[in-house]
Amino acid sequence: MANLFNYKRLKLVLILLFIGLLFTRSQTKQAASWGFAGHQRINEFAVYLLPAELQAVFMQHLPYIVSQSVAPDQRRYAVQQEAARHYIDLDHYYTKGQDPFWNLPQNWQEAVDCHTEDSLQAYGIVPWHVVRMKYRLQKAFEEHNLTLVLKYAAEIGHYIADAHVPLHTTENYNGQLTNQYGIHGLWESRLIELQAENYNYWIGKAKYLPSVQKEIWAAVRASHAALDSVLKFERQVSAQIGPAEKYSYEQRGSTLTKVYARKFCEAYHKSLNGMVERRLRAAILMVSSVWFTAWVDAGQPDLSRLKLEAHSKTENLDEDTIQKTSSRWKQRSCH
Ligand SMILES: [Zn+2]
Repeated sequence: MANLFNYKRLKLVLILLFIGLLFTRSQTKQAASWGFAGHQRINEFAVYLLPAELQAVFMQHLPYIVSQSVAPDQRRYAVQQEAARHYIDLDHYYTKGQDPFWNLPQNWQEAVDCHTEDSLQAYGIVPWHVVRMKYRLQKAFEEHNLTLVLKYAAEIGHYIADAHVPLHTTENYNGQLTNQYGIHGLWESRLIELQAENYNYWIGKAKYLPSVQKEIWAAVRASHAALDSVLKFERQVSAQIGPAEKYSYEQRGSTLTKVYARKFCEAYHKSLNGMVERRLRAAILMVSSVWFTAWVDAGQPDLSRLKLEAHSKTENLDEDTIQKTSSRWKQRSCH
């Protein structure tokens, strides 16, 4: 029987983990989605919204849930199928100015029949992958396999978080098509780094979601609806501030790194009028709600029966199959 956690000690471990990851990030200059800090924060706060019974289990493994929130980004270069799970290029589905969603079935098989699997993979599959991961998580609960519950819970948190980022819904994911190169890291890493401590995390409680599929598509739609503002305000604030004051240099580990200047970030953040905070809060609520829903849909198994397993037959091996990275996936480095 595991003890209830020691909260102070856990906090200390988390802080050390967080500092360690920040350091790692500064050394590798990895452009991760939501930044490492954003993903970790989303998974951590999602745990706090869970009902007490489920929360007790997740709290015992909080450092794992938090650290594994970035695992899907870390294996992006090793697993060929991974990259497409983090985004959906909705631009591809606009035809004659039509709403891109009209011709985009939410059901995976219908989408494959309509567009072919190769095409879906080429333009990103994040909403379908979230639904697939939810079933894996549900199955892990049904089998009382705590190892897989924790793995899938942490990783679905990542994909849901990515679906809440406007720039994960477009081919212009890093502003490269509109001369705004670098906007991806600006929106989801730099702004979070400077502002996340000021956000309101009083979000409420996890909710049961009758249709995870419907919810994740609604999240993607809301992300995409915010895309115009993400690009437009960056252009406006850049014009106001001017190129000389847009960037500055900050010490990161042993290197001096060019970053968006604080003054520019503050002005951009203000012009977005709470958008980053709203998307972050929505992501936290949905992650927590999907974890809770998977447990309910598994028939609310007795959580004291969950067991850590060394190995599982049901684990999808493609996650661990190391494949040669093609140049095509490397190009998508920002997703
Ligand atoms: Zn990602």
